[in-house]
Amino acid sequence: MYELKTTLTLRNVMKDYFLGFAKAEKIAWCTSVGPAELLRSFGFEVYFPENHGALTGTTRKSNDYIPAAMNIGYSDDICSYLTGDIGAYLTNRTPLRDHYGIDGIPKPDLIVYNTNQCREVQDWFNFFANEFKCPAIGIFPPRHIDEITEEEINDVREQFKAMIPECEKASGNKFDIDNFRNTLRLSKEATELWKEVLASAKNSPAPLSFFDGTIHMGPIVVMRGTQAAIDYYRKLLNEISENVSNKIGIVSKENSRIYWDGMPIWGKLRTLSDLFIQNNSVVAASTYCNSWVFDSFDESDPFTSSAKAYTEIFINRSENAKMKIIKQTCDDFRIDGVIFHDAKTCFNNSNARFGMPQRFYKKYGIPVLIIEGDLCDLRFFSEGQSITKIETFIEQLETQKILN
Ligand code: SF4
Repeated sequence: MYELKTTLTLRNVMKDYFLGFAKAEKIAWCTSVGPAELLRSFGFEVYFPENHGALTGTTRKSNDYIPAAMNIGYSDDICSYLTGDIGAYLTNRTPLRDHYGIDGIPKPDLIVYNTNQCREVQDWFNFFANEFKCPAIGIFPPRHIDEITEEEINDVREQFKAMIPECEKASGNKFDIDNFRNTLRLSKEATELWKEVLASAKNSPAPLSFFDGTIHMGPIVVMRGTQAAIDYYRKLLNEISENVSNKIGIVSKENSRIYWDGMPIWGKLRTLSDLFIQNNSVVAASTYCNSWVFDSFDESDPFTSSAKAYTEIFINRSENAKMKIIKQTCDDFRIDGVIFHDAKTCFNNSNARFGMPQRFYKKYGIPVLIIEGDLCDLRFFSEGQSITKIETFIEQLETQKILN
């Protein structure tokens, strides 16, 4: 069975990250595509509640926690990261205890969110700001943009700058532009390595699938802006490059190559990964893993480039822009078909609800499949039905290839 040895290093890297909070002088919470570099430049250790939400999903604990959030009025139709995370807090439980031996989530001195991904983060983070009696500040960029304009970037840049006094107050440190430049440089280096890791799946056999990507993306989400993230991706890339040279990959004969759009189904990563392997198919590219590639970071203009990088992310684009990005990726990765995951509790990162898959197929002729599920709430995922749909889709892709 194909396995990446670097996964063993990953466990230690993530453990060190979480254990580091015990020694942190100041802690900021941040959304997964929030201004982590600016926060780090003030000396904050940065914690990401979405990562905790994903952990409740991979450990299949979300459904134990969600009812507590529902009891205080949160609907089970809204983001299951949010309901799982708030539910875990309310019941004083966390998978971090079993995983890393830490007693609970780190307490924030400052909470920061960016609504570039959704408005849910504002509600979620304000809940905790209220609980911990700490300040919360937000960045509110324009949403669903086609091509980003200079005015829009300037607007977000000023919002980044407006955070400085609150960051200084909460951290006790003065803003230092050189620290910010340096953190952004480190983040850029890590994001470039991550991009290379993902690009390795252009090879056949692919040495990395979407499912591997969801595991190895931990450091680029929670540790970007640190040397540790760079060191990790260098090591991972070395192993992957060696596998490419030796033609070692996930499946030796790929009968089809697939693109996954939307959220992972965290509690079913292994099941789905095995399913594709058994069918000699590889999920070679995805919207999700690509979300932490920030091409625009530029330390020579840290505010403007951060504003641009965090506003032009896929989830914040128009349908027109999204379709072009998916098509380009399909071409680059020689994709035969696209699976759209319609995640019940995250319409923000589900692109199947307004007819986009149908229009995508009509425009580009690339076959599509829609499966219903969820990021964490497994009540919304019908395993048997989804497996049948995926297997049928893979068969159709193979038949079509033979006919062509
Ligand atoms: S983008 Fe979706 S999954 Fe992520 S925080 Fe927002 S609602 Fe939740």
